[in-house]
Amino acid sequence: MSVKYICRKCGICCHEVPGEFVKRIPIYPDEADTLIEIAKERQIDFKIIEDLVFPDIMNKKILVLTYKIVLDNENKGCPYYIEPQGCTVHRVKPLACQAYPLALKQVDAFNFEISIDPLCNFVIENYIELENLNIEKLKEIFEEEYPKAERFYQKNKKLMFKIRKLEVKKQIEIPRQISLEEFNKYLQNWEREEITVK
Ligand code: SF4
Ligand code: SF4
Repeated sequence: MSVKYICRKCGICCHEVPGEFVKRIPIYPDEADTLIEIAKERQIDFKIIEDLVFPDIMNKKILVLTYKIVLDNENKGCPYYIEPQGCTVHRVKPLACQAYPLALKQVDAFNFEISIDPLCNFVIENYIELENLNIEKLKEIFEEEYPKAERFYQKNKKLMFKIRKLEVKKQIEIPRQISLEEFNKYLQNWEREEITVK
């Protein structure tokens, strides 16, 4: 395997990609607070919306695990992306951005796995070599990004574990089946509670 990840610095990962995929840059509540603070200091328009949420039907609350960055209307990109330097919050950028083009793929309601995002230009260029990689090769090719993806994965796992623990202790109740209509009704009417881990 000769291929080694080198970022093309094309900025695609910070922008909406035309086509069927919707750009999603997930951020945890603590990361959202940091980015909001910086936006205030810099006086830039930075917005987030809820991303991964669970309805807690026992307490009538929406539990918020992650948010996502609202892309700028004009350039369809993250407000922190500025040409020509690219990301202007490099030192504090969210785990999802640090790990990219490695990402977390949701395999069921509570489980995720590390995967490669197909929208990255490096991935598109090397698709054949990157298809069906085992974990050792993945670590080799994405030498710097894999440890970050691992941290991202572990943080997500801790969050899911916290949710499951609250369920077992009967402090919350998350329905396993819910209609879209009910879910939308809950989203409109219930208070939010952020679920965080260190
Ligand atoms: S925080 Fe930086 S790396 Fe992440 S989407 Fe925004 S500009 Fe891109
Ligand atoms: S899309 Fe891939 S190659 Fe382009 S800037 Fe993002 S990570 Fe780098």
